[in-house]
Amino acid sequence: MARVLIIEDNPTNMKLAVFLLQKAAHEVLQAVDAETGLALARQHHPELILMDIQLPGMDGLTATRLLKADAATRDIKIVALTALAMNGDRENMEAAGCDGYIAKPLRYQELLALTARLTTTAQVPSESQTQRCP
Ligand code: MN
Repeated sequence: MARVLIIEDNPTNMKLAVFLLQKAAHEVLQAVDAETGLALARQHHPELILMDIQLPGMDGLTATRLLKADAATRDIKIVALTALAMNGDRENMEAAGCDGYIAKPLRYQELLALTARLTTTAQVPSESQTQRCP
């Protein structure tokens, strides 16, 4: 079980992601825009963020860059949720600091497998991940 923050403005996608993660016994936090999501991430320090890319106001890649540039939040795993599947998108997400990528529509197996993988490795910190802000 992990604490997971979902940042997603589409109510249907949000509802589905919340349902799937809660069913797998994860603790779920929700934000419908990046600004709220950043505040929740700083306050509650989830192990994983599912980050929609297309959001009102600040987009998901910008929010990812901010989180990865901040020593207090850079160890949070971030998985991009996107309907985009064009050449270059994956590179853009990796450049922004995303740890993974899920194409919408969300699929149960893929979402839970990636969540399990990223939150399990987060419990075994590497050398670089041990330098955390108090
Ligand atoms: Mn969206």
